Formats: sequence, structure tokens, C-alpha cells
Amino acid sequence: MSHALFLGRFNRPSLPDYIEERLLETECRMEAAHQTHLGYPYNLTLDPPVPAALSPFLINNLGDPYGGSTYGANVHELEREAMAWLMRLWGAGNSQNFWGSVGASGTEGNIWGLHLGREAFPDAVVLHSADAHCSVPKAARLLRIDAVPVSSTPSGEIDLQALADVLPGLGGRPVIMVLTCGTTMKGAHDDIAGAIAVLEAAGLGPDRRFVHVDGALSAMVVPFLPDAPDGIRPMFDHGIDSISTSGHKMIGAPMPCGAMVARKVHVDRMARAVTGSLPHDPTLMGSRNGHAVLAMWARFFGHGHQGFARDAQTCTQRAQWLAGQLRRAGADVLCNPHSLTVVFDQPDDDLVQRYQLACQNGRARAVVMPNVTTALLRNFVADYSDWLDCQPRAAAALTRLACHA
Ligand SMILES: *Cc1c(COP(=O)(O)O)cnc(C)c1O
Repeated sequence: MSHALFLGRFNRPSLPDYIEERLLETECRMEAAHQTHLGYPYNLTLDPPVPAALSPFLINNLGDPYGGSTYGANVHELEREAMAWLMRLWGAGNSQNFWGSVGASGTEGNIWGLHLGREAFPDAVVLHSADAHCSVPKAARLLRIDAVPVSSTPSGEIDLQALADVLPGLGGRPVIMVLTCGTTMKGAHDDIAGAIAVLEAAGLGPDRRFVHVDGALSAMVVPFLPDAPDGIRPMFDHGIDSISTSGHKMIGAPMPCGAMVARKVHVDRMARAVTGSLPHDPTLMGSRNGHAVLAMWARFFGHGHQGFARDAQTCTQRAQWLAGQLRRAGADVLCNPHSLTVVFDQPDDDLVQRYQLACQNGRARAVVMPNVTTALLRNFVADYSDWLDCQPRAAAALTRLACHA
């Protein structure tokens, strides 16, 4: 039965036994891994799925989503619709002035955002917070752009005073400012409006700066939370030049992918910079995964604005609930406002492996995604409390005693 999934509509009579076995084994492992997953910001609801009937086609959105190619098995039109959906979500106004595309990942979106920034300002310096994702310094190095990290606050957002302090040392060079909507380890939101105001005050107006927002997770969460402050919203009217997000995080595509939207003026500049008779391709990857486009498109229009709004509410509430339960158990917990990410001391290997927690510097992270049930959270709280109880940490034990008293 499950094999019909792999065989698609061709329904081949049989695969060699060892292939069948390995695939079945893999399927079981996937199912088990999904059951207790808590550590990565991956939406595993996989709803609505793209019909398996489409899986045997080589769907390639080759080249510019707005230009296309003569390769017939493409879904460029659905990609443009999906990008228009994101443009509306991120307040792009007139979509004629924007360009967007589906890419391989959030990382690709960051690389391409920084590339557009460098094309606009070839001698610019990249500024990012110490809590930015590792793909940001990686992109800067790949593109040979000098990068300067800016201190962040203990809760993980960029320190605006520290930002103001580094600007005079840049020798008057323009900046490519990378801001994060939902940092990887702490789920913090940079104050986008505040950071842009700091640049303005230092004379770095739109003619001397490019602002890229890395919204891998929360650019698909914060816009759906009515009580989130305006400053952290990934909205183009703040003066943002490009925004990227991951397709397999909150969007919920069942394969790694991403999307980026940028002001068209930057994409057109890049097109002009490439001379010669070859047709210009404004994407990084050229051949692009049409199945990822289908998956994202089906989520945007099938799950819809209301579905994502419901998810954002439920997940932020459950994250706060988890944080509260762990605190009651005596844990030292960080859970930022409007965030799905809960940070605590790294437990033993057994728990880290079972719940697939991401760990850094002795701290571990859980991310409450739409597929994370309260039952899974309860199990985790019980397991984590048991572990905590066995720790020779006087402070935690005392807190617990106080709670029970
Ligand atoms: C996950 C993440 C990325 C990278 O996205 P991928 O899709 O995994 O490449 C970039 N930035 C932030 C803040 C992230 O959390």
C-alpha cells in the first residue's frame, strides 16, 4: 500500500527486494522520527499534501519565474501566484515593483539577498547581529563582502546602541543590514524599524543602505499575530529591500525549500550588469524545484491566511505554556514574546536524541510547530523534569521543593 506512494501512477509491478526493504525501513524510520520531533522549526503537518499523481513528473521552474522557459513541465504561473501571496503578506503594495522566486532554502534566500545588496553597493559592509544565522556570515564570505557582527541583547535581538556604535568605524562605506525575524536559537525578533532609524540617524539613507530581512521562520508567524509590535513586522514599508523565508519551516512544504521577495529595481540592476548575448537568469540556482513550488502554493491557497493565523496563535500560546511548565519544574527558560522557540539547559543525550533538540553552548531549543501536540509537550515536560530532578544542581532542586511545599 505504502509502496504506491513511491511508484506513483506508473504502478510498476515490483522493485528488487532489497530496494523494497530499504525503502520500507526508511519509511518506518521517518514515521518514528516525526512522532517525537520537537527541536527544529519544521512544520510536519504536511497538509494539504500535493497529490502523489504529480510526483513522477520532472517539474523544473527553470530560470526567471516571470520569464520562464520553453520547458513545458513547469509551474511558473503557480510560482508567480505564490510569490504574489507573500508580497501581499509582507506589505509589498504594488506587486509590479517586486520580484520573487522559490529557491532551495532559507540559506539561498540569504545568499541572494546579500548578492542583490552587493550589486547595489559594491563596497558595502554587511552588518548582522551576533545571533544571526550562520548562513549570513557564510553568504558574506562567499560573496567576499566584509561582515561586522553587532552585539545582541541577552534575549537575542540586535542591540541598537551597539549598532549605532559600530557605524562611525565603517569609514563612510554603505551598509548591507541583515535583520532577523525569529533568530535560530532564541526565537528573537530584531527591531527592524528601530535599526533602520539608527541607520537613518547616521546618514545611511536608502541611497547608502540595503536592508535584507532573514525571516526563515517568523516572517511566516509575526505577520499573523495582531498584537505583535509594528517594529518587528517584516513589512516592506519599513524600507526593507528583500525578505526571505524557508519553505519547510512554517509554510509546511514537505521538502527543504525557500522563497525570497525583493524590490524589482535591485533585480533589474543585476540583469543590466550581466552583459553579452546569453539570456539573463535572475535566480541563483537556474533549475528550480517545481514540486517545492507546488507544495508552497498548495499551502498558501489551501491552508490560507486564516489557517496560518490559527497556527501562529496556537503555537505561540503552546510555546508559552511549555515555558511555564518547564519553569515550574525548576528549569531556567527563555521564551521571547511572539515566539515559538523555548530555550533551556541541555538535557542528557537520550532526551536530546529522542526529541531531536538543537543544542548550542549547553543550551537546547524546542520549537512548537503546528504539528506539535499538547500530548507531545506533556511527555517532554515529564521527561525533562525527571532529568532535572536527577541533576546535582542545588538551585533547581530548591525551586522544586519550594513549588511542592
Ligand atoms: C533555519 C534558518 C535559516 C536557514 O534556512 P534553511 O532553509 O535551513 O537554509 C536562516 N535563518 C534563520 C534565522 C533560520 O532559523
